[in-house]
Amino acid sequence: MKLTRLVDNGLYLKKSLAAAREAYRDYCEVRVIPQSNGYAEITVSVKAQFSSESRQILLEFWNYFLDSSCQNHFDKENQFPKYQAATSLPSKKYPDKISSDYSLLPFRFDRREKGDYLLVNEVGEFTVLSKSDFDAFVTGVLRQTSPVYATLRARHFLADGSGSAHFNLLSSKYRTKKSFLEGFTKLHIFVTTLRCNQSCPYCQVSRQNRSAGAYDMGQETLKRSVDLMLTSSAPSVTMEFQGGEPLLNFELIKTGVLYAKEKNQQAEKHCNFVVCTNLTTLSDEHLQFFEEHNVQISTSLDGPDYVHDRHRPVGKNASHAIVVRNIRRAQEALGRHAVSALMTTTRESLKYPKEIVDEYLGLDMGSLFVRDLNPYGFALKAKSVLGYSPEAFLEFYKKVLGYIIEINRAGRTFSESFATMILRKILTPWPVGFVDLQSPSGAGIGVVLYNYDGEVYASDESRMLAEMGCSMFRLGNVFEDTYNDLFFGETMQTIASAACNEALAGCSDCAYQTYCGADPVRHYSTQGDIFGHRPTSGYCAKNKGVIKHLFDLLLNADEDMERIFWAWMNQEDVNRIRLPKAVWA
Ligand code: SF4
Ligand code: SF4
Repeated sequence: MKLTRLVDNGLYLKKSLAAAREAYRDYCEVRVIPQSNGYAEITVSVKAQFSSESRQILLEFWNYFLDSSCQNHFDKENQFPKYQAATSLPSKKYPDKISSDYSLLPFRFDRREKGDYLLVNEVGEFTVLSKSDFDAFVTGVLRQTSPVYATLRARHFLADGSGSAHFNLLSSKYRTKKSFLEGFTKLHIFVTTLRCNQSCPYCQVSRQNRSAGAYDMGQETLKRSVDLMLTSSAPSVTMEFQGGEPLLNFELIKTGVLYAKEKNQQAEKHCNFVVCTNLTTLSDEHLQFFEEHNVQISTSLDGPDYVHDRHRPVGKNASHAIVVRNIRRAQEALGRHAVSALMTTTRESLKYPKEIVDEYLGLDMGSLFVRDLNPYGFALKAKSVLGYSPEAFLEFYKKVLGYIIEINRAGRTFSESFATMILRKILTPWPVGFVDLQSPSGAGIGVVLYNYDGEVYASDESRMLAEMGCSMFRLGNVFEDTYNDLFFGETMQTIASAACNEALAGCSDCAYQTYCGADPVRHYSTQGDIFGHRPTSGYCAKNKGVIKHLFDLLLNADEDMERIFWAWMNQEDVNRIRLPKAVWA
């Protein structure tokens, strides 16, 4: 495995590259091709004997390289003009002007239960300060000799003599954090039919009866949608077939995959295919096609039969046994990693945190995604019966996570997907592809949905709202609108106005902003307002609760726990993972 990047020599120093090369010479080889304008193309190739640890080694190498560059910039004291802090704080407790030789860089903070302060900067780097250090820091009287000064400087909480270096490195890291925006919309959802053979009471898409053919996507709609997908500037796109139950319109899936492949010979994108199916109608023909065309399966499994069958019937019959059998068939035919599952948490699930995890382990799944009930479709109508408070969900989530950590401590690698994504945001320089945790929000920018009737929506949730009678997030129609009309039209402008949590009331000064997202569609659905009201938002309560809990775990982590978290983030075996080097130690 190798990774090639174009780097700015002004930010990434040759000296630092030499240091990183030396530190990792046993693990990888580095090739440098100088470019014009002060750039260099750097290719890092992991040696064959470490191929199973490629992701981890590449991540560590680039972290080391960036951090070492950062340190070298700081060491060049007096090269840049001194920056004088000019922040004035309103409280009388503080002096009108801070007269130190450092400036505060943008950060947000939260006072923790223990009385100390968690500080998080614009790129998600964090540190914890005691109250006295925090007060000294923000009032500009923290001494350079203080043990926390170097940490605050290294993690871009303050800028001192080397001010320009701070800003350049911070902006470089910021670009990396927001790199999910490169290429624009990557996830393209195709609703091949709204028909379904199941009748789940929490169905969010408002499925139609199995025989209601008017809810199938037609060939022309499909082809026009594929053409739009391939117009996207993203070099890699995912074509996801959804329903209803998409396998009820399998011929259309086949046409879609073959047509996309044919058209992609010109577009030359990397095209992934995923079918989201309840798996109850899976046939050998389906499996053969999926294997031939590298189509992945995403299914739903709520837990053991007494949980799953409660809310996922096929007609009047139970579906659990069929789903489990077909998960195994699919794993055998396509490989374990080609099959994933999601669970939907209902009030019933709250009683069975361990049993749900055990069900996934028994099926040799590598992870569990604990998903709360979304406020759309039938799920909204059934909320009084199936729903729960954010506090009840968090309590359940913590139990599930605690049990999963125990399992990993005993040597079995198994992760929780939501925690893994947030940990990646906290502990690595990289963004995650999950649209619910993005700012700008994923609606239209990270994901788009082509409905069975040719209408185009900004997200899966947007079409769910449309089925409930609200077309607020309709971008247009595949036959009537061009790519530019759809993605830069009035609806997208409206969404964009509430898409950045950096500028939303409540989020703008939230310590957890970098790890969270903005979700205008959900807030419109639950609060009737795309901007939303965070103190009463279920989205906020859940995200904040989970992120705070992960910080509690991280800040008290022993080496085993760190190993587990890094194994999840890098999709490595928990018994073989090597912890990243502590560059700042
Ligand atoms: S949740 Fe999925 S499987 Fe259940 S009724 Fe709705 S579309 Fe069908
Ligand atoms: S939604 Fe809540 S947790 Fe997320 S950034 Fe906004 S205020 Fe913070």
